[in-house]
Amino acid sequence: MNKEQIIKKLEYGSTKNPNNRAPYAKKVIVISSGKGGVGKSTVSANLSVALAQKGYKVGLLDADIYGPSIPRLFGIENEKIKWNKNNKIVPHENFGVKVISVGFTTPSEDTPLVWRSSVAISALMQFLEDVDWGELDFLIIDMPPGTGDIQLSMAEELPLFGAILVTTPQALSCDDVSRSVMMFKDVHVNILGIIENMSYFIAPDTKIRYNIFGKNGGKNICKKYNLNFLGQIPLDINIQELSDKGEIPISLGTQSVKNYYKEIVKRVLEET
Ligand code: ADP
Repeated sequence: MNKEQIIKKLEYGSTKNPNNRAPYAKKVIVISSGKGGVGKSTVSANLSVALAQKGYKVGLLDADIYGPSIPRLFGIENEKIKWNKNNKIVPHENFGVKVISVGFTTPSEDTPLVWRSSVAISALMQFLEDVDWGELDFLIIDMPPGTGDIQLSMAEELPLFGAILVTTPQALSCDDVSRSVMMFKDVHVNILGIIENMSYFIAPDTKIRYNIFGKNGGKNICKKYNLNFLGQIPLDINIQELSDKGEIPISLGTQSVKNYYKEIVKRVLEET
C-alpha cells in the first residue's frame, strides 16, 4: 500500500465525495425506514433472496446493530462469526445470499449490544472491509430505523446506488419516513422508491379487506416528494409465520405472497 492509499483509508469520506469501502459490489442499496417494526428487515431479506433467485450475486449486511433480525429471518440465528485462514470473516450463506450480522458476534440471541455509535460504525466498516464477500452484483444493507449516525456514515463511506424506504400506511410511520426522505436528499443519496408494507389485511374466511393501518400513506408520500411507489405488501399471516421460522416467504411462501415481492423486485430492477 502506498502513502496515498494509507491517507485515503484513514480519511472519512463526505456525502458529496464518499469513500468506497465496498469496491467488490457493483451496486450498494440501503433499505431504511423511519420507524422500527414496519417490516424493513423482512423486506431486505425477501428482496435479497428474490435477486439471488434471478441469478444475481447478492450479499446482505445487517446494519440494524441494535435489533439484528436478519439471522433469524434466514434461519441461521445460532451461527457465529467465522474467520478463514486469510483473516477474513466468512459470511454465512442461505437461500443463495451471503449474510453478515452483529447477531453472529453475540454469545446468545438475547445478548444486547450496548455500543456507542462510534463502536457500531467501526464494526460496520469491518463488515464492509474484512468480510470475504467475493464479487457481488448487489450489496443490500438493512439499516437501523431513523436518521442517525449510521445512515450518515454509510452515505460517507460508500457510493450508494440508492435507498429504498419501507413504511406502513399509518400517519405515524409516514411522518417518520418523510424525515428519512429529507435526510437521504440532504446526503445526496438517490431514493429508488418507497415500499408500503402491512398495507391491508384480507380476512382469510370472509375475504373482507381491512385497512388496519389506514390507506395510501406510502402512495401519498411518493406524490408529495415525487418518488417511485415500488408496491404494496399486505399483512399476511404466512409472511409472519414463515419469517419467525427462518423460512424466507419469497422462497417458501404461498403463491400470492411470492407475487407481492416479485412485483416489487421487478420495479426495483427497473430502477437499477
Ligand atoms: P423492522 O425491520 O422494520 O423492525 P421486521 O421486518 O422485523 O420490521 O418486521 C416486524 C414484524 O412484522 C416481524 O414479526 C415480521 O414477521 C412481521 N411482518 C413484517 N411484514 C409483514 C407482513 N407483510 N405481514 C405479516 N407480518 C409481517
